[in-house]
Amino acid sequence: MPHAVTLIPGDGTGPEITEATRRVLEATGVEFEWDVQPAGLDVFEQKGTVLPDEVIESIKRTRVGLKGPITTPVGKGFRSANVALRKKLDLYANLRPAKSYPGLRSRYENIDLIIVRENTEDLYAGVEFQRGTPAQEEIIETIARTTGTRLDSDSSISIKFISVAASRRIVKFAFDYARANGRHKVTAVHKANIMKFSDGLFLATAQDVAKEYPDIQFEDRIVDNMCMQLVQKPEIYDVLVLPNLYGDIISDLSAGLIGGLGVAPGANIGSQYAVFEPVHGSAPKYAGQNKVNPMAMMFSGVLMLRHLGERAAADRLEKAMAQVIAEGKSVTYDLKPRPDDPTAVGTSQVADAIIEKMQKL
Ligand code: NAD
Repeated sequence: MPHAVTLIPGDGTGPEITEATRRVLEATGVEFEWDVQPAGLDVFEQKGTVLPDEVIESIKRTRVGLKGPITTPVGKGFRSANVALRKKLDLYANLRPAKSYPGLRSRYENIDLIIVRENTEDLYAGVEFQRGTPAQEEIIETIARTTGTRLDSDSSISIKFISVAASRRIVKFAFDYARANGRHKVTAVHKANIMKFSDGLFLATAQDVAKEYPDIQFEDRIVDNMCMQLVQKPEIYDVLVLPNLYGDIISDLSAGLIGGLGVAPGANIGSQYAVFEPVHGSAPKYAGQNKVNPMAMMFSGVLMLRHLGERAAADRLEKAMAQVIAEGKSVTYDLKPRPDDPTAVGTSQVADAIIEKMQKL
């Protein structure tokens, strides 16, 4: 039976990398029934929304999406389609692997990290009070009354909230992922020494959940120490689980450790649906130029294949990509020693090279 998958090409360079990714996925021999759903800037012109309801309905039917990036213009009044999608489908876990491959320009070797970021809470969830508004004054009064601390009246306020339920489900997700993928250790990252209630609750919940997984090693790290350790010895870490804001920062740090955005895949996963997408954005200045690296989206496709239970196909595609990276010949400008290297190939030629390698595996 073919796998039904909602394919969202997105905008900017999205359609080009999506097409390249579709081709390599089909070349694995796995059959797909693509439901192609436009979203993004071009759709906004026609339908007045960047995320039409049909996209959500399609994912509710197929349960799996593969998505290109979508532009979020600054200050044009609509919210990010990417954030809306995560909210509407309750995709609470952001999964971002960071793995080094020989041939990538990086200061490190042997990195194989899985970053699991909570997607719904924390300072990141947008509960904010703007300076000079009645709501902000009310909050300042409440804080003064309940804690004895009076904030300056010219403060703006963002609320950090962390619940047992959301912490429990993200930490369970990290342990389940570790178990299902032959991983050995989960590290919970926090600042519970200072934020005793919010991060303290995250840590206590993680410690509690860890008891249910005696086969997986558990440890915790304070976030600032974690940053230093990732720079000094990233190879000793395995699965990291973090609240939203630390997860955002550490996952970009980790993408930097392995050679940058062009090869950093991601997934947003909930209890019912999963959407796979590259970490990078729509890089609009390169749109239509057959220039950018499709590998981040292809690695997201590898994650999707594993999610669909197609492990052998995932391994083959990953191996073919690793060979192309190691050879360093049929790669885009960002993987060359210099960005203006005249031997850099285009987006679709990367797909051709990977398909050729796969045929020999
Ligand atoms: P970006 O990731 O699109 O691009 C930044 C720079 O990184 C590019 O100019 C390019 O030099 C490089 N780059 C990115 N992807 C690359 C690739 N595949 N190959 C080679 N080089 C690559 O970040 P931005 O410019 O900050 O964002 C552009 C738009 O994308 C914004 O509207 C932003 O909101 C949106 N965005 C969307 C998503 C998403 O869809 N999930 C994620 C991040 C940003």
